Amino acid sequence: VATSTTGSEEIKCVDCGRSPPPTDTNYTLIGARHGWRLKRAESDGRTVMAWYCPSCWQAQRKRAGGS
Ligand SMILES: [Zn+2]
Repeated sequence: VATSTTGSEEIKCVDCGRSPPPTDTNYTLIGARHGWRLKRAESDGRTVMAWYCPSCWQAQRKRAGGS
């Protein structure tokens, strides 16, 4: 099994832990085709990236939505 080791960060949905489908770039994931979302968050003075799969992103928005 060959795995990419280009970065130290593994892309996973922070909510359900699902891995995204393999794509050429992260930008492909964020696009309409895959529907993943990348959110910046501050943690311990560092900026961290939080990935959400399409379904968790929707659930999260509903939760945060209020109304
Ligand atoms: Zn998810």
